[in-house]
Amino acid sequence: MPQQVLHEVFGYPAFRGAQAEIVNHVVAGGDALVLMPTGGGKSLCYQVPAIVRHRSGQGVAVVVSPLIALMHDQVGALHEAGVNAAFLNSTLDADETRRVERDLLSGSLTLLYAAPERILTPRFMAMLTSLHERGQLSLFAIDEAHCVSQWGHDFREEYLGLSALHEQFPGVPRLALTATADDHTRADIIQRLKLEEARLFVASFDRPNIRYTIVEKDEPRKQLLRFLSEEHDGDAGIVYCQSRKRVEETATWLTGEGLTALPYHAGLDADTRRRHQDRFLREEGVVVVATIAFGMGIDKPDVRFVAHLDLPKNIESYYQETGRAGRDGLPADAWMTYGLADVVNQRRMIDDGEANEDFKRLQRTKLDALLALCEAHDCRRVRLLGYFGQAYREPAHGSSTGLPGSNAPPRGAATEGSLGAQCGNCDNCLRAPDTWDATEAARKALSCIYRFRQAGGQRYGAGHLIDVLRGKTTDKTTQHGHESLSTFGIGADVSEAQWRLVLRQLIAMGHVQTEGDYNTLALADSAREVLRGEVPVLLRVPTESKPRVKASRVRGATGAAGANSASRGAGKPPPLPLDEAATERFVALKAWRAEVAREHNLPAYVVFHDATLAEMARECPASLDDLAGISGVGSKKLEAYGQQILRLLAHS
Ligand code: ADP
Ligand code: ZN
Repeated sequence: MPQQVLHEVFGYPAFRGAQAEIVNHVVAGGDALVLMPTGGGKSLCYQVPAIVRHRSGQGVAVVVSPLIALMHDQVGALHEAGVNAAFLNSTLDADETRRVERDLLSGSLTLLYAAPERILTPRFMAMLTSLHERGQLSLFAIDEAHCVSQWGHDFREEYLGLSALHEQFPGVPRLALTATADDHTRADIIQRLKLEEARLFVASFDRPNIRYTIVEKDEPRKQLLRFLSEEHDGDAGIVYCQSRKRVEETATWLTGEGLTALPYHAGLDADTRRRHQDRFLREEGVVVVATIAFGMGIDKPDVRFVAHLDLPKNIESYYQETGRAGRDGLPADAWMTYGLADVVNQRRMIDDGEANEDFKRLQRTKLDALLALCEAHDCRRVRLLGYFGQAYREPAHGSSTGLPGSNAPPRGAATEGSLGAQCGNCDNCLRAPDTWDATEAARKALSCIYRFRQAGGQRYGAGHLIDVLRGKTTDKTTQHGHESLSTFGIGADVSEAQWRLVLRQLIAMGHVQTEGDYNTLALADSAREVLRGEVPVLLRVPTESKPRVKASRVRGATGAAGANSASRGAGKPPPLPLDEAATERFVALKAWRAEVAREHNLPAYVVFHDATLAEMARECPASLDDLAGISGVGSKKLEAYGQQILRLLAHS
């Protein structure tokens, strides 16, 4: 039955990766904790069981979601697919609320979305109790489950109360889903939501269609503009910055450069935020410049790039943010600029934070892992997957879906074996960065810090250290007697700029720590290994000045990905290669879709994804039967739009 529901309601030919197993487990009444990357296809994991269980008389599924702003579109998408769903949140007036509550109690609803604070109200709990007594609660889905953990990156107080669901409604299957959970957070989710008995599903975290690029920060705004104009002309995307001020400046600047760029951060009033988010979802080619306040739960499938102008907090955040690109499985970019100031700022933010020492230590460890990713000169994807405990596996060639998640490694796959592997779709794989063996230089820098310590126990910042290494006499070198140190002038052959890179790498790798307001330098325990020459230090030679490779996308989504790269940057590329006639049909279909979307007050992708329209344009089906064979055309959409589409295709 799940397979039939997938086909009939959603119009998809097959489950992806772990979906089938998860769905079967929940349909059979089991609890589950699902870890799947953003864009991996979590929604179907509870929507299909909800429909199956509703059809067999088991009532309504309650979906806990922290984002009221997006419930509307999610429910709209289910309506388009012919599923009776609703949401309860503060945007409804009293009449609407009563209507939804009536439908809920009558058993006509298949899915109900609600925010956690709503679910825990006595009124709502009473309704759930009534449903439970009649055996009409089919399941609970707890989306963004990492919100329950204080270790996670967006803890929500209200989530803590959700353990009540287990206590009060035993026997109702519960499904917790998240895209980000390291071991720590995972254990926390299990404990706090009382999911000890639940089966754990860890999908492949690989997002093969996303290309990862991390460039040396030089002139970030200009670098961004170049990236956007060369690779993403007219595309929708998100640019993340660390501060509100930077968000505003960047948005204004991009607007001045002729882009549709809208700011989004917590300092804007709710109305402006909603308006900007709405435009992003509903218009084409909008760029949102945002702090991390933007994006959770955004399910827009055709976000073509996610750019970071500043370093995110850790790899979890980075992966979740970049995961918002390319949910439709078509080629997308994750692009970031990175510099020494990022390292220093992030360290400072942790040091100055309110958190206790344990938490700070954890944050530092996580930052270190991210820095290692930035400094890496081997495959970024291998490193990312390694961080999530997974090995990189070459995707099966000739796979017809090529969708994210379809190359799931067997669960529990070991990380060994992927060392030295190449994904072919990250900056380092596409063009191996030039490296410079800086082991000697690193040893000189470390021993100089060591000498400072011996000479007077004091600590100094990078500027002074470099002066001493290069043998530059200053007031300070004289005053502190550093000209007589054995390390004075031992690094005169290395330029100041290079020394800064060496130091950044040493700080990033954790061999050197920065401390206090002046970011003075101190040796970490691990520095000893470098000093002894046991750990080689290889530095990237800054890559920004090199032209970006326009290699074909060896592994994007669908077999056609390589061909698709040719059209990148050339205005609005259709998601799949289309000949001239098909392109015309594609454009006509999009215009038709825009009208339907407006009428229904929904984003266009809720009606049909670009990929579905492109397939229609290419295949040009002449009968309802043929049309039904296209991925993304379920029976309800076929009934509602089939004739219109056939007519349109026949006439264009
Ligand atoms: P997540 O919630 O994990 O970030 P979504 O549930 O939004 O991901 O799914 C991402 C996209 O993939 C959606 O556009 C969805 O329609 C599509 N999708 C999910 N599962 C399948 C499938 N089995 N076949 C085709 N498309 C799918
Ligand atoms: Zn790679």
